[in-house]
Amino acid sequence: ESVNIEAYLNTVLDDFQLSITSNDITLNRKFYISKKTINIDKFYTTTALLNILENAVKYAGESIVVDCTVESNSELKIAIKDNGIGIFDKDKKHVFDKFFRAGNKEIHNVKGLGLGLYYTNQIIKAHNGNIAVESKEGKGTTFILTIPFN
Ligand code: ATP
Ligand code: MG
Repeated sequence: ESVNIEAYLNTVLDDFQLSITSNDITLNRKFYISKKTINIDKFYTTTALLNILENAVKYAGESIVVDCTVESNSELKIAIKDNGIGIFDKDKKHVFDKFFRAGNKEIHNVKGLGLGLYYTNQIIKAHNGNIAVESKEGKGTTFILTIPFN
């Protein structure tokens, strides 16, 4: 379905912000969106975004930044950046695998099945999009989603 990009993202992020009980986490938005609408499955796309945002809280420090831009007039790019524990280089290529959890020692205290990113990847692929991860262990992680406009 066709959705207004800015209104949609603000709704998802507002709901997410309300769900964060900790006052120690700040969520910043940087939108430069030169197109009004995009065709997406709202329900699944929201699940994908929330999986990444939830991880940013679970494995994070105190800051999350959501950056949204239009690339080459052809795809929507959403980058979700945290300043948390990061992901080891050797683990990066596995984070979208079913049931994978990385080897950071901090993770033993955090509940999870290793399914969130697996589903997120499936959802973005079903939109003919792509998902990439940039991370530095101990510094933070950025997930970059791109979804084509057609
Ligand atoms: P689930 O989402 O099923 O509750 P999970 O969070 O462990 O469990 P995924 O969301 O698929 O599973 O993430 C896979 C693994 O990737 C995590 O266990 C964690 O090791 C690593 N990871 C994901 N996001 C981040 C992040 N923002 N910072 C650091 N590590 C991350
Ligand atoms: Mg998760």
